[in-house]
Amino acid sequence: MPLLARMLLSPLIIDIRAGAVSGLGDLLADRRISADGRVAVAVGPGQGEQVVEEIRPALSNADVFTVRGGSLESAGELQAQLRGTHYDALVGIGGGRTLDVAKYAATRLALPMVAVATNLAHDGIASPVSSLVHDGGKGSFGVGLPLAVVVDLDFVRSSPARMVRSGVGDVVSNLSALADWWLAHEERGEPIDGLAETFARTAAEAMLHRTDGIDSDHFLTALADALVLSGMAMAAAGSSRPCSGSDHEILHAIDALFPGAGNHGELAGVGALFSFFLREDDEAGSLVDACLRRHGLPRLPADLGLSAEQFAHAVLLAPTTRPDRYTILEHLDLDGSAVQERVDAFVATYGN
Ligand SMILES: [Zn+2]
Repeated sequence: MPLLARMLLSPLIIDIRAGAVSGLGDLLADRRISADGRVAVAVGPGQGEQVVEEIRPALSNADVFTVRGGSLESAGELQAQLRGTHYDALVGIGGGRTLDVAKYAATRLALPMVAVATNLAHDGIASPVSSLVHDGGKGSFGVGLPLAVVVDLDFVRSSPARMVRSGVGDVVSNLSALADWWLAHEERGEPIDGLAETFARTAAEAMLHRTDGIDSDHFLTALADALVLSGMAMAAAGSSRPCSGSDHEILHAIDALFPGAGNHGELAGVGALFSFFLREDDEAGSLVDACLRRHGLPRLPADLGLSAEQFAHAVLLAPTTRPDRYTILEHLDLDGSAVQERVDAFVATYGN
């Protein structure tokens, strides 16, 4: 009998709860990943060290490596440090940058990777994509999915509020990425993957209408679930397409032109709102706007410390950041003065 289904790669384990980190040693042993906790642990310069102390009792044989920054270079350094060693797995502990570096290094070394997320700033925690800085720019690299994804709500709660709530912006940007995907389907015949769309949209919808916030463990669990689902959407599609469209092109352009204007999720949220404005989709725009407002996330260029002219500059550059991607930006193909006019109208519409 034919198997009338598709096989989908996914992490073996998803563990989202308060105190999840203390179960890490057992989790590795139970799944025959590492019987005696002989693992390499990659931590960032932030909260990671604190988590290492927490997991010490569970992973007494672990060696700790510090990762500085989210670059291809730091991934290469970690890879070089681990080459010729015999660890059962690489455990990445931290926020997006550290996890992206660990995912990339683990893939190159063919090591199983465990992602321990200490904040919820973006959807990279369970995705097959690493976003890394190289040669002054930022690229997305296809990597293996983490074998296990652990989100300890105790750590999430103690990380800066800004790093937690910005994940909301990344998740709601799925909606504009999906609109771009459908546009590419209609204009270019690009195939849509319905399962990837289901995952990406469900994640976004789960955030869009919630009235609670990051003070609530229910909300944090839902946000972590949504980020995992977004990762699964990318795994199902085999690309970042379901979670990254014109919104992320604008994000990458702002990152390149005005580094530090906002973190990943914050920029994705602003990019999504502007993209819906370009599409003249007022209904989706006002839902995204209300959601970003509810969580105190940036919505306008000024919220990122950018002038309307600077934001327009980024919008104009945006299509070049992902030359293979067809979105509302490539579709409208606006020139400099038309972009400026749209940005000014955007600020006038949402600026009060
Ligand atoms: Zn993103």
